[in-house]
Amino acid sequence: MDALALLILVVALVGLGLVATVTGLIVGRRRGPKPLPNTHTDVIVKPPVEAAEDEPPVELSSPPATLEPEVEVPEELLEEAPALERPEGTASRLVRLRQRLAGSQGALGRGLLALLSRDRLDEDTWESIEDTLLTADIGVGPTQELVERLRTRMRVEGGTGADARTVLREELLALVDPSMDRRLQVSGADGQPGVVLVVGVNGAGKTTTVGKISRILVAEDHSVVLGAADTFRAAAVEQLATWGERVGVEVVRGPEGTDPASVAFEAVKEGVTRGVDTVIVDTAGRLQNKAGLMDELGKVKRVIEKQAPVTEVLLVLDATTGQNGMIQARVFSEVVDVTGIVLTKLDGSAKGGIVVAVQRELGVPVKLVGLGEGADDLAPFDAGAFVDALLG
Ligand code: GDP
Repeated sequence: MDALALLILVVALVGLGLVATVTGLIVGRRRGPKPLPNTHTDVIVKPPVEAAEDEPPVELSSPPATLEPEVEVPEELLEEAPALERPEGTASRLVRLRQRLAGSQGALGRGLLALLSRDRLDEDTWESIEDTLLTADIGVGPTQELVERLRTRMRVEGGTGADARTVLREELLALVDPSMDRRLQVSGADGQPGVVLVVGVNGAGKTTTVGKISRILVAEDHSVVLGAADTFRAAAVEQLATWGERVGVEVVRGPEGTDPASVAFEAVKEGVTRGVDTVIVDTAGRLQNKAGLMDELGKVKRVIEKQAPVTEVLLVLDATTGQNGMIQARVFSEVVDVTGIVLTKLDGSAKGGIVVAVQRELGVPVKLVGLGEGADDLAPFDAGAFVDALLG
């Protein structure tokens, strides 16, 4: 009997011990820290929570979620990443921007047409035509040339009832030169990315243009890396970073004051490593003396070309700056081989004639036009569409 009582006692004690061990294990697991994914300094882990005395035993089948330690994640990490913007599609952008171009430049064509359609084309009328062209910044040489050609054609063909609009259209088109190759060289050879270097004075619209070009490329399913090499202005770097974030494009940047060439180098290196289609490099636009500018841009280009050839050098010019803009254009074209011109702010002035003047001056085509501050307000320049917009 005593032996039986002893046996029952032993079995009871062993049973209790087992329950305690199992419960202890589970509670222990519950208390123990869970390895954090990606141990991150921003993640604050609370101290383990003590199990309450009267807490019911945890079933082994309990969902694992109840076993997770509580983790407090700072609010900024909880905020959802902003949704990426979808840049406007090409077709709708072009229709919209053509209308805007007609809005800003139409008065020039209409003014010329009204003058040319007069019954008598006397000297006063020709003088007014000349003034209209000069006011639109076409430049002295091209203006004289155009007036001369119009005079001849209207004299010879006018009697035959030639339409002034047709004559004007043909002559303006010849002046803008539809034969120039205006395609952007955004692709590289042999699997390397295309490298687009964007130059111009501060305020011309360089950074904005880099952002807008990246959107056009993203809309056309190209992969892009941006280089924020305007390291003298923190605001320009931030501005470019924002452009990149909005469409999910990586922006390579360095601390303020870093050598622009090193940022350009890193950006192209990143583009090569990631195998992207295009790297676009924004540059500093301080218009210091010509030698300084030449040193700076020359170095940027040389350093980039250790990684991949530069396929396009775009000079950004503010269309509203007239003669001043032309002087800047000349300086830049002397220090770097410009392959294309971007004319910005054509929405804000009727000075579309600068297209002709700057192409003549540099012998380089206008490839893009900026037509507003909106993210998708950049259009490829098309000679025929431009002249049609002028004539309304
Ligand atoms: P950056 O100093 O050359 O990089 O010039 P930004 O890109 O900072 O542009 C200077 C200003 O010009 C900004 O306020 C832009 O929004 C504005 N801008 C750029 N392109 C255009 C354009 O095509 N039209 C208009 N209206 N403003 C533009």
